This record gives sequence, C-alpha cells and structure tokens, in this order.
Amino acid sequence: MQALDQLHAQIRACTRCGLHATRTQAVPGSGPAPADIMIVGEAPGFNEDVQGQPFVGAAGKLLDTLLGQIGLSRRDVFIANVLKCRPPQNRDPMPNEAEACLPYLRQQFALVRPKAVLVLGRHALERMLPGVGSISRVHGQIFMRSGVAFMPCYHPAAALHNGGLLSDLQQDFDRVREYLDRLLAAPPGAAADEATDGVGEEPPAEAAPAASEPPPQAEQLPLI
Ligand code: URA
Repeated sequence: MQALDQLHAQIRACTRCGLHATRTQAVPGSGPAPADIMIVGEAPGFNEDVQGQPFVGAAGKLLDTLLGQIGLSRRDVFIANVLKCRPPQNRDPMPNEAEACLPYLRQQFALVRPKAVLVLGRHALERMLPGVGSISRVHGQIFMRSGVAFMPCYHPAAALHNGGLLSDLQQDFDRVREYLDRLLAAPPGAAADEATDGVGEEPPAEAAPAASEPPPQAEQLPLI
C-alpha cells in the first residue's frame, strides 16, 4: 500500500478525539500526491461526512468553479481539511480536536510536497499561519514558509453566506494564478529553504512582495 493510502486508512480508523463517535465516516482528503498545489479547508460538512470526500457540497461546487476559472481542476490539486471528521451541526472545530488531527495534516503535507498551499478560511489560517492576522486582513497575500507559498483565501462557504465576499474570493484565486504563472516563469534551479512540514510551527513572516516582483525562493514548478 502507498504511504498516503496507509495514512488515510489510519485516519478512517481514528479515535483520537470525540468526533469519531458522531461521524458517519472520516474524510481524509483527495487528490494526487505529490501535487504542486494543496488546498486546506476547515472540516467536513454534511455531504462530505456522507460521501467520505472533501468539498462535495455547495462550497465544493464553488471551489470547483473557482479552480476552473484559473485553469485548474481537482485532478491537479490535493484537497484536505484541518479536521478529518465532521463536527456535529457543523460547529466550529474545538482546539483539542484540531490538536488531535493536525499530525495527519502534517503527514499529508510531507507526502504531497506542495509548492503552494491555499489556506481556506479563518480556521485553516489559525492553524497553518498562526499569528499573521485575520482572514479579512491577510486574504490574497502570500506567506513564504520554507520555500512553500501559503495563500490565505476566504472560505467558499463564507462567500455563499455573504455574496459580497465572492469578488474578493475570485480575486484571491486570481492572485494564486498570478503566483503560479510567476513561479513557472522563474529561472530553474533557484534554491528553496530546507523543507519543514509548514503546519503551524513557524513564527509569522511578512507577506510576500507585490505581484509584479518574482516569487521569493522560487523553484521551477513542473505544474500540472
Ligand atoms: N468545508 C470545508 O472546510 N471542508 C469541506 O470539506 C467541506 C466544506
């Protein structure tokens, strides 16, 4: 069995927190590994809990549309959540649940080895880029961590609840496309920092420079 399949089997059998008692099934994540792009959401909702796949409800449809608008599809990205099990009534993740689940996200990150991580919404932001500021302040910015670009975006579900956020979200995804294009255009062989798991461990750094400048610590990206 591949390492990722083994990890996902472990996640499906997990009893590390109380959510195992209320889930229909765990939702480890989906997509290719390795993959240049990883997307991290908050937690499975009703549909994900039933189907065992991430982002298959209304927010997932919007995510598919946003990806399509920047020339990507699910086949190109690895999608996971901070929590692998649905919180009852879709309540916010509790700190002990996130702590129990984060080692799984770290292992997925290590196996997927993304060049860019889309951090969807405030809960993923709190866990992956602690201390950088609120999602309303930092969405659309790029935070480099050990050569990996972490890009906070509004959560698609937030845009479904508040239509006023949709254009911001589309602009966030446009920034992602711009970053990927700059990365593809960067000269090969540029060194990146030594890799770490990138999940909630490093102190906050300044946001990356404006889009017209080359990406920091850029590597040639064999995209898609
Ligand atoms: N919202 C999330 O954050 N993740 C999902 O998988 C579905 C909805």
